[in-house]
Amino acid sequence: MNAPDNSRIVYLDYAATTPIDAAVLEEMTGCLRESASYGNPSAIHIAGRRARWKIDAAREDLARLLGCSARCLVFTSGATEADNLAIIGAARFRAHRGRHIVTVSTEHKAVLEACAALAKEGWDVTRIDPDTDGLVSPEALADALRPDTQLVSIMHVNNETGVLQDIARLGRLCRERDVLFHVDAAQSVGKLPIDVGDWPVDLLSLTAHKFHGPQGVGALYIADRAGCGVVPLLHGGSQERRLRPGTPALALIAGLGAAARIASGRMASDLVHVRRLHDRLLGGLAGLEGIRRNGSVTSNYPGIVNISAAGVEGESLMLALEPVCVSSGSACNSQSGEPSFVLKALGRTDREAQAAIRFSFGRDTHADDVDFALRRYVAAVTRLRALAPGQAA
Ligand SMILES: *Cc1c(COP(=O)(O)O)cnc(C)c1O
Repeated sequence: MNAPDNSRIVYLDYAATTPIDAAVLEEMTGCLRESASYGNPSAIHIAGRRARWKIDAAREDLARLLGCSARCLVFTSGATEADNLAIIGAARFRAHRGRHIVTVSTEHKAVLEACAALAKEGWDVTRIDPDTDGLVSPEALADALRPDTQLVSIMHVNNETGVLQDIARLGRLCRERDVLFHVDAAQSVGKLPIDVGDWPVDLLSLTAHKFHGPQGVGALYIADRAGCGVVPLLHGGSQERRLRPGTPALALIAGLGAAARIASGRMASDLVHVRRLHDRLLGGLAGLEGIRRNGSVTSNYPGIVNISAAGVEGESLMLALEPVCVSSGSACNSQSGEPSFVLKALGRTDREAQAAIRFSFGRDTHADDVDFALRRYVAAVTRLRALAPGQAA
């Protein structure tokens, strides 16, 4: 069998993972190539100190991106681990005060499953439903808070729809009641301005590969204030203030630091670029009938556009779009063929949810890529509708 013709790939799946930046790769290969000059950062000798210096520098770079002090950052293997450490760790830290947590039905599985694990241990978990635009209203959050609530977990930007929550407002409600507030910011760190010093946020998760860093490394921000803390999930050495023991992955952490440094420098221009692509994509879809955007038109990160086309099945559409790489529903759901639980929570029918395509793009995407994807999409929708007439609503 012939290999697929990969002469042109148009990669529009940035919400799943982003291409690694050349300078990040350079930084990482440098660490690996010169591994003889770096020791274990726990060691006292000069090689150990060099490794420690690298890790500290990366922590400073990430701290600058987030507007926090470097000592508030714990390196992890990604956002999944950061979410678990934040939710299970903070719940255990506050368990003596009460056992109720609040989250949202459209969160990433890493958050929902961490909450489900706590529910099995006897915690009460309330899942708020967002409105049909995917937004969580402060009223809905206020209604869900109870005297025994210890933790609220709400994401900044939704990975399927791009919906952007009003974190400052939701966080203030938590602060007023002395409830810890965790934010999964995997889709926004490095892309939207974030200043955790200015935000009523206690815990914040991120992962390097969503902003042009390597896969397998991330971090959890833990606010330095009374009543805020996490109980570690792993036990071992004293690395990462004992909150995440184990020899740190030097090259990955250095890569995360480099990605943060680059993002600090070019976030504003990246965002202008992404907004232009977003407008170009939506403009190109304007002529097509029966198109619906899933998510919010007013509050979103413009690098994620989720569209349902009436009468068209998402999986067939995805095949017809090749070599354009997009997602149907979430990456985690696409194997199962089940309609996306995120879109269902927005009140979409199974049919609508199954017709959804997520376009996500960023720094390295060209206007040409968007135009190519648009031509493919419009042609595929038109052809599939002609094959199954009467299905279009
Ligand atoms: C990608 C993502 C995660 C998981 O990140 P990993 O690096 O795969 O652990 C968690 N939350 C959100 C919102 C994400 O987009």
